[in-house]
Amino acid sequence: MSRWAYVNGRFVRHGDAAVHIEDRGYQLSDGIYEVWAVVDGRLIDVEGHFERLQRSLSELRITPPMARRPLELVLREAIRRNRVTYGLVYLQVTRGVAPRDHAFPDPMPAPAIVITAKSINRTAADARAAKGITVITMPEIRWGRCDIKTIGLLPNSLAKQAAREQGAGEAWFVDDDGLITEGASSNAWIVDAEGVLRTRDTTANILRGVTRKSVLGLLGEVNIRLDERAFTPEEAKNAREAFITGAGALVMPVVGIDGSPIGDGRPGPVAQRLRALYIRNAQTSNS
Ligand code: PLP
Repeated sequence: MSRWAYVNGRFVRHGDAAVHIEDRGYQLSDGIYEVWAVVDGRLIDVEGHFERLQRSLSELRITPPMARRPLELVLREAIRRNRVTYGLVYLQVTRGVAPRDHAFPDPMPAPAIVITAKSINRTAADARAAKGITVITMPEIRWGRCDIKTIGLLPNSLAKQAAREQGAGEAWFVDDDGLITEGASSNAWIVDAEGVLRTRDTTANILRGVTRKSVLGLLGEVNIRLDERAFTPEEAKNAREAFITGAGALVMPVVGIDGSPIGDGRPGPVAQRLRALYIRNAQTSNS
C-alpha cells in the first residue's frame, strides 16, 4: 500500500516527498512538531495537541501555516489516505526556506509544513504493555526550553539509542539535583513506596505532556493520592510501580530501571488500570 505525506499544501507519495536544502528546520532545527495518537481511526486528545502546537509556534515566533479547521481536515485526510486505524500522525512546521543565517530571515519566509501518518502494530503494542518496558537513566543535557516541542532532538535521540543498546525501552533524564525530569519521548511516573502517585510538575523544564494531562483527568476513577513532585532514580528503584505516558506509548508500564526490577518486576495495577481507562476513553471520544 502506498503511503502519503502532506507537504506544503498538497499530498504527495511518501517516497517522493521532499523539502528544500535551505529549510531552516533541516539546517538549524528551527521548527516545532506535534504528534497525535490514533486509536480506532480517531485522533486522540485533539484539543490538547492543538493548544500545545499553537504555544510552540508562538514561543518561537513562527507563523501558523494554516488555520485550525483546515489543518484538522488535513490531519484526518492523512489518517484516511494512509489507512491508519492505530498509530500516529506527525506534524512538523519550520520557519521556512531562506539563505542560511542564524538570525531570523527578513522578510520572513512562509512556514514549511509536513504531515505524515503511520500505523503501529496494535497486537505488538499490547504485548509490550503486558510485559512492560525497562528504562535507563542518563544525565540531563538538554536546553532550558524543553517546554517547547522543537525538532531539535539530538539529546533525546542519543538517550534513546543508549537505551536501545542496553535493551531498554526508554531513557529517563536526571537533572543536576539528582531528580528525574522526564523520558526521551515520554513523561515519567511512579507509584512510590508509600503508594503515592508521583510525576514531575510542569513548572520544571519538561514538556507539558498532553497524555500526562489526560491521565491526571482519569485519576477520579482510580483510588490513589497524587503528588506532582519529582523523584530520584533511587525512589524509582524502590517504587511499587512505574510507567510512562506519551502519544506513542499511551500509558506504558515500566518494570525495571538501570538493571533493577521495580516492584515485582511486572506491570503494576495502577499503570494497567490507567492504560485501560485511557484507551477506553480514546475509543469513546468524539474525535
Ligand atoms: N516528553 C517528551 C520529551 C516527549 O517527546 C513527549 C512526546 O513526544 C512527551 C514527554 C509526552 O508528551 P505527549 O503526551 O504530549 O505525547
